[in-house]
Amino acid sequence: KVRVRFAPSPTGGLHLGGVRTVLFNYLFAKQHKGDFVLRIEDTDQTRYVPGAEEYISECLRWCGLNPDESPAVGGPFAPYRQSERKDSYRQYAEQLVKSGHAYYAFDTPEELESMRERLKSPENPAPQYNHVVREKMRNSLTLSDAEVQELLVKNTPHVIRINMPANEEVSFTDLVRGEVTFHTAQVDDKVLLKADGMPTYHLAVVADDYQMKITHAFRGEEWLPSAPVHLLLWKYLGWEADMPQWAHLPLILKPDGNGKLSKRDGDRLGFPVYAMNWTDPATKEVTKGFRELGFLPEAFINMLVMLGWNDGTEQEIFSMEELIQKFSIDRVHKAGAKFDYEKAKWFNHQYIHHKDNESLATLFQPVLDEKGVTAAPDYVATVAGLVKERCHFINEIWDHGFFFFQSPSSYDEAAVKPKWNADKEAFFTTWSAQLETLAAAPAAELEASFKALVTEKNMKMGDVQLPFRIMLTGGKFGPPVFDIAVTLGIAETRNRIAKGLE
Ligand code: GLU
Repeated sequence: KVRVRFAPSPTGGLHLGGVRTVLFNYLFAKQHKGDFVLRIEDTDQTRYVPGAEEYISECLRWCGLNPDESPAVGGPFAPYRQSERKDSYRQYAEQLVKSGHAYYAFDTPEELESMRERLKSPENPAPQYNHVVREKMRNSLTLSDAEVQELLVKNTPHVIRINMPANEEVSFTDLVRGEVTFHTAQVDDKVLLKADGMPTYHLAVVADDYQMKITHAFRGEEWLPSAPVHLLLWKYLGWEADMPQWAHLPLILKPDGNGKLSKRDGDRLGFPVYAMNWTDPATKEVTKGFRELGFLPEAFINMLVMLGWNDGTEQEIFSMEELIQKFSIDRVHKAGAKFDYEKAKWFNHQYIHHKDNESLATLFQPVLDEKGVTAAPDYVATVAGLVKERCHFINEIWDHGFFFFQSPSSYDEAAVKPKWNADKEAFFTTWSAQLETLAAAPAAELEASFKALVTEKNMKMGDVQLPFRIMLTGGKFGPPVFDIAVTLGIAETRNRIAKGLE
């Protein structure tokens, strides 16, 4: 059975790259009737940010990407927080020490620092603990067994490091990149178990993917350099046959293609990068998210899936059901995907335009509440239906339709005044009286009566149609004017004509 996981470290808000990782995992799982697991990788206490886990769960809920197993819903492999699985990892680190694939390292922070200082050079600005360096350090490869035993008995602080082979080639087949090969000489002896007994990410991710029977692991390209460490751990722990298939997903790039989109770019470049508002618990600073800016979750998802994938046709709009059917990991691109905020807005516009009016009215209600406007839900729905094709965001229903909720407070006089005359005034007085008999008439009938009077008075539609619009809305904007009149109702239309004639 297909089992995938999203394994975030709770270090802050979830940015769009994180949600796209979730999405690709989720689509793949659902397509194969598999399970989607949310596992919280919180072993690095120094980077732990309170509230981040709740934020991530809420984010998945908003996007409709709900996990089948998670800390909140539980599941057969609980607990799903690594801090709560702490005691399960040491045995694997010890097993690796016994088989010679890992070793105890007793070096103090001062010793590590002086090693780095000694070896630092322009060619080697950040010396690593590797097969060359380890020869001169205090670890179970250089100390005698007796010395090691003594240090352990005395509870001397130590870590366990992987014993990276000096010169081996390690390869695996990535579902996106194909065959990927690494040379172990380039990889350092990563810490697997820390002095406080907590595993590092490398050990924990492998142990848990094994324990939780994960079959496929799709993650960001930034994890590719860690893959050789993970691969060797799977092998050294004797689990190679159960290793998940990996796919490293393309980076999401800045709009100009110049480098990876970072969490800080949002503020700098004027668009959101977080899925939802993120409040930094330390500074209380709020970073705006797609949700609060008025994105519909389905538009956000559709925008994200296109960052690195397409179905091979020109189609851009996909429902979730369609995506579950059509997504395929071998159509995911290797190259980074440029994020384009204008395109993101286009997707939102498409979804708003095609959403049913009742749902739009519900989404718009908070904006009305904020404005202190009360209106019947079906009236709001009608208004939404009339203006939705112009809106990129829900709150723009107000910008394009405020006059449905309040009569104009000013008029675009420059557009009417210069050509205003007594004939026009007479036209509106007469037509307004005729309107009384058209109480329940549809827009076409209003228009017909308007036209009839225009003809009778030997006028042109152009003479009076714009003034009529301005009486109703205050300006030259808005949906078809007779639709506005019908929506406002005859009484209100007549009020506005009267006010316009004042
Ligand atoms: N904990 C890692 C992260 O924060 C997970 C990487 C992986 O999926 O292996 O993204």
